[in-house]
Amino acid sequence: MITPHGGKLVNRIATDADRERLLQQSATLQSITLNSWSLSDLQLIANGAFSPLTGFMGQKDYLSVLKDLRLSDGTIWSLPITLPVSKDKKNTLSLGETVNLKGEDGNIYGLMLIEEMYEYSKEAEALFVYKTLDQKHPGVIKTFEKEEVYLAGPITLLNQPLTFSEDYKTPFELRKIFQELGWETIVAFQTRNPIHRAHEYLQKTALENVDGLLIHPLVGDTKKDDIPANIRMKSYKALMQEYYPKDRVFLSVFPAAMRYAGPREAVFHAIVRKNFGCTHFIVGRDHAGVGDYYGTYESQEIFNQFRKDELGIEILKFEHAFYCTKCSCMATSKTCPHPVENHIHLSGTKVRAMLRSGQFPPKEFSRPEVVTILMKELNQNEKSDI
Ligand code: ADP
Repeated sequence: MITPHGGKLVNRIATDADRERLLQQSATLQSITLNSWSLSDLQLIANGAFSPLTGFMGQKDYLSVLKDLRLSDGTIWSLPITLPVSKDKKNTLSLGETVNLKGEDGNIYGLMLIEEMYEYSKEAEALFVYKTLDQKHPGVIKTFEKEEVYLAGPITLLNQPLTFSEDYKTPFELRKIFQELGWETIVAFQTRNPIHRAHEYLQKTALENVDGLLIHPLVGDTKKDDIPANIRMKSYKALMQEYYPKDRVFLSVFPAAMRYAGPREAVFHAIVRKNFGCTHFIVGRDHAGVGDYYGTYESQEIFNQFRKDELGIEILKFEHAFYCTKCSCMATSKTCPHPVENHIHLSGTKVRAMLRSGQFPPKEFSRPEVVTILMKELNQNEKSDI
């Protein structure tokens, strides 16, 4: 099994015995309410997906991540994992205090020992992480909506957030499953979209060289116009049923929030998949990008600055993939000599517009089983929205 990032898989989930005791203690503690983004961070720190992090980041790590893409001890880490609170809230808290971490539903999900409270610059964070201050960038919008002070310290998870629980596996669980399946090399595929033919091409091309494929869709917060995760999950299952070998592919959810941070998020996505036991990670065109903020292959180029051994997971880079009507198959510019007029590729925006207006995208772009589900579910959703 691949070594987790930083050497050891973190486990901050309270054991049954501790949990009862800690829950009783929690009645006397102050509470902080986490939004869905921070709650998913809490879950992923606790289950070891964010190893070697054991809590929300202190200032030294935070600044080091922004400036150097590394934790202060030199371990590669590309995105801040922080817990914002208001200045007013901060004034009620003390260093050394343990607080309840509640969800917006009022339930207690965990505890945190407050080791640090620090202010930060939203401008600097946005520029380092997203490379822009444009208020239209979904990550920048979220940055400027955040409260002003970061709390830092180790966490303990007392209750699992329950979204998609039947398809959720912790890094420990996935590593065990891979072992039982006898897979030594596993390629992970990150997506926040339905799986179209280009995605399938990348996955299956990669699978030719490894033992297994982990389809690991992100199901945490995404921007409003992305296709909701519950609908995507139905489409992934239908696709796998018809087109994927059952003993070579595993589907499990990745409950993180989408940052749309392009290159920095690609590094984060890769490291986290290493913690889930994967040895290879697919990075295609404009990975985790949005609009035109990042170059088409910037999310691949960012990996060039790291040594292979310190990254640990192997990055499989793919050119822009499309269906070529002359080749009569999926291809990239590396394998197809024909001009773009022969290439069938649709943007996500175009596909969403087609689906919503009842137009079937071509089967060379998306499998009909996927389109049927998306169209039905999206139309039902819209009706229920009215
Ligand atoms: P994300 O926003 O997380 O990158 P996507 O669903 O847009 O999610 O993409 C999933 C993966 O597939 C990413 O690695 C992306 O670079 C890659 N990808 C998507 N479409 C294409 C394409 N047409 N050609 C090559 N790679 C692609």
